[in-house]
Amino acid sequence: MQASAEKLANAETATNAETSAHKGAPAKVAVVGAGLAGSEAAWQLAERGVSVKLYEMRPKQSSPAHKSEQCAELVCSNSFKSLNPHSAAGCLKAELAAMGSFVLRCATKTQVPAGSALAVDRERFAAEVTAALRAHPNIELITHEIQSLTEVQADNCAYTIVATGPLTSDAFAAHLAQILGESYLSFYDAAAPIVSADSLDYQTLFAQSRYNKGSVDYLNAPFDQASYDAFIGELVAAERVIKRDFEKKELFAACQPVEEVARLSADALRFGALKPVGLTNPATERRPWAAVQLRAENSERSAYNLVGFQTNLTFSEQERVFRLIPGLEQAEFLRFGVMHRNTFVNAPLALGHSFELHKNPTVFLAGQLTGTEGYTEAIASGLLAALNVYARLTGAAPVTLPPKTCFGALVNYATNPQTVDYQPMHVNFGIMPALETPIRNKRQRYEAYAERSRLALKEFIEQRSELAFLPAFEFLVDEMASPQGLSANEAEHE
Ligand SMILES: Cc1cc2nc3c(=O)[nH]c(=O)nc-3n(C[C@H](O)[C@H](O)[C@H](O)COP(=O)(O)OP(=O)(O)OC[C@H]3O[C@@H](n4cnc5c(N)ncnc54)[C@H](O)[C@@H]3O)c2cc1C
Repeated sequence: MQASAEKLANAETATNAETSAHKGAPAKVAVVGAGLAGSEAAWQLAERGVSVKLYEMRPKQSSPAHKSEQCAELVCSNSFKSLNPHSAAGCLKAELAAMGSFVLRCATKTQVPAGSALAVDRERFAAEVTAALRAHPNIELITHEIQSLTEVQADNCAYTIVATGPLTSDAFAAHLAQILGESYLSFYDAAAPIVSADSLDYQTLFAQSRYNKGSVDYLNAPFDQASYDAFIGELVAAERVIKRDFEKKELFAACQPVEEVARLSADALRFGALKPVGLTNPATERRPWAAVQLRAENSERSAYNLVGFQTNLTFSEQERVFRLIPGLEQAEFLRFGVMHRNTFVNAPLALGHSFELHKNPTVFLAGQLTGTEGYTEAIASGLLAALNVYARLTGAAPVTLPPKTCFGALVNYATNPQTVDYQPMHVNFGIMPALETPIRNKRQRYEAYAERSRLALKEFIEQRSELAFLPAFEFLVDEMASPQGLSANEAEHE
């Protein structure tokens, strides 16, 4: 901390052009939102000697899902997913531990037994984070709803990290929409599941565009009548996520969950998203009874989304029911379908590689607002935003994580202007750059991704020592979470 403070003081001259308003005063940064991302960002900066104003609207004003007045409240599950270092979720934790994540450390301190997953006692976890933030001499925790960025700018903050989450207050969301442009901000997330390309059965699936028009952009999963009827029966009976009151109203107006369409009539999907017109199954040389279309998610075609399959089914039911689709029997789900309230930006168009706003590069986004998804991802983006602000303050080069790390790959994916129809995503090995030498065996491939990430991050930390990384720590891996204890698929979704 001492070394960072000195570096910061020395760097004041170098950055005077940018922070001239603060000449002679310690650099001041505003962090808006003390959730998972904001708490991490505030701590990382404070530990490096930066003076942080952390604005949190609760308890004066709450979101529809938060219940307490603590920072880093977990609004739903108490699980941060797998600890298995050879799953993407576990690999991300290893990356965060190597960079000295504050919030992950609080999670490991308040861990409860959960087999292969990192689960926490949610009250103790939030209390641990809150107490540490409150006690930090460089952090001022202010109970206030920020409604406009001009408020924090007026407060003489050189940089702002916005981490107001999926339930950003209405006034501030309206302000963000205004400065970014309406089409750059979403308020709801209705996304279809994404499956990994190498888990699909290409003996059953066939590539074809309807009437063979245009390029062959789709894979088709053909149903005969019996398999279609069986599928519809399971789909309408499957267990759904119970929506909260605040999510019930607007969600269904724009797009219907696939199971709701199926409930209208047995043929509704066959005449809608699953219509087989213009398709000929090469195996039967006939038109299928119905067909699910799968569209490539990226130019490498390593992942496909199930077109029209936005859904409210629980994750385990999605896995069970959607594997009844011919060709998807062994499908590995990189992302499950969701339909819920979620404020997030169109990252490929709105954000640079450091999650800074193109329209105002002194403002960085972090957390779910960036269009990344999940508790651990939120922590990682808070850490990344803090590193970048610190780099700006000290005149260091911008910080982009190596794309061979799990989080680097996700940032790359999210901020790639080529990514169309962007939907929030959590870390997964499907978006990692291909291995230099392809490995067919899934377990060995995952081990190779994880090892490559570890080495890439180690090199990055060594090369960027001017960023004053906080001490690394080991997190406890339950015996159950050893790579031998889980199948690759379990490891990914735990
Ligand atoms: C209903 C629901 C359930 C979810 N369940 C899960 C789950 O089980 N697992 C999972 O991994 N992810 C889940 N998510 C996603 C989850 O919210 C994120 O993974 C994570 O909480 C995002 O962290 P964050 O820091 O971006 O946002 P948050 O943790 O929500 O933090 C944002 C903070 O900003 C504050 N804030 C908002 N607006 C303002 C303002 N204008 N001024 C000042 N403060 C403000 C909020 O009060 C909050 O404290 C869920 C999301 C929702 C909406």
